[in-house]
Amino acid sequence: MEKQLRSEYKLLLDANEMNFDPSTLTLDWGKIKEFNRYPDPTSIELRTAISDVLNQKRLNYDCENQYHPILPNQLIIGTGSDEILKLILESLTDKGSVVLSPTPSFSEYEKLTELVKGKLIKVPCNDLKVDIEGLINASKSFEARVIFLANPNNPTGQLMTKFEIEKLLLETDAYVVVDEAYAEFSEVTALCLLEKYEKLLITRTLSKAYGLASLRLGYLIASESIVSVLSDYKMTYNITGVSESIAIEVLKNTTYADQYIKGVKSLRKRAFSLLNELENIMAIPGEANFILIKIIGDQRYLQLKVAFETAGVKVRYFNSGNNGKVDESLNNCIRVTLTTEEEFMTVLGLMKGVLK
Ligand code: PMP
Repeated sequence: MEKQLRSEYKLLLDANEMNFDPSTLTLDWGKIKEFNRYPDPTSIELRTAISDVLNQKRLNYDCENQYHPILPNQLIIGTGSDEILKLILESLTDKGSVVLSPTPSFSEYEKLTELVKGKLIKVPCNDLKVDIEGLINASKSFEARVIFLANPNNPTGQLMTKFEIEKLLLETDAYVVVDEAYAEFSEVTALCLLEKYEKLLITRTLSKAYGLASLRLGYLIASESIVSVLSDYKMTYNITGVSESIAIEVLKNTTYADQYIKGVKSLRKRAFSLLNELENIMAIPGEANFILIKIIGDQRYLQLKVAFETAGVKVRYFNSGNNGKVDESLNNCIRVTLTTEEEFMTVLGLMKGVLK
């Protein structure tokens, strides 16, 4: 029943992308077209552009008085933050090392840990909320090397406080990787803890709030000494010159992203209250650019899937029956990317049709 290609769908709301039209950007194609040249292996221009953006936006974060500017030498660029997550495991773990993550969380942590022959232990959430004490206890019992913590979490959208992250840093010996793929849509970041904790690593991406998913650009923010260790494991030319040049151009003016984030945040509130008016569903309040919705009843879940597929609307389905790797607590859940009011209203209309 599902269409073969993503391009066959009218609305793509399954991968938390932005829906903006890149052709509206004015880019200087001169440098972008230098296909014949290898890129700069250190990506210094892009690292500088990213650190400038982070430092300009520091007042958006909950660390005004303790903010230390992020230096380009605290960054590594990867082909998406996926590559950075793998780089972290390749450089900081050995075969058989224990890696922890809450469950449910981003499924890639399991795949990447398998790739490096580590052992992922999943610590169940309580009512979809990350169990920090559970992570601390598991870290002690299993001598975990790395803890992955998506904040906000994917697919629940749940947010951990800076205090909770600090507790994890203080009470475990593990490297704590705070995956901030969606941080721009929330009010929390661990950036201001970097000065204090050498074993804190933060990953970010240009795929979500900056709308550049196809460029495959993500980055690590950590201490200069961690960056120097990880840099030895990075492939010399990991990112393309084309992606780097486009991103540098785009980051010169990020007003489009600021406006988009603002729009998503207000849509999120409205979507949550509109969904709550429907029967037989539970909308989970979250802090990212998506919303998790639990459908009550197998039959309704399947009917909704048919309605979405028929209308050419792609959302993310979770059903523990279909795939042993999906957490039980996500049974009959769908995750819908929040983009514009208009796109959300299409989703809501389809849901109303099925759940009436
Ligand atoms: N972390 C989380 C929590 C994500 O949801 C995603 C994308 N789905 C990523 C990392 C990877 O993003 P990218 O590789 O596009 O930077």
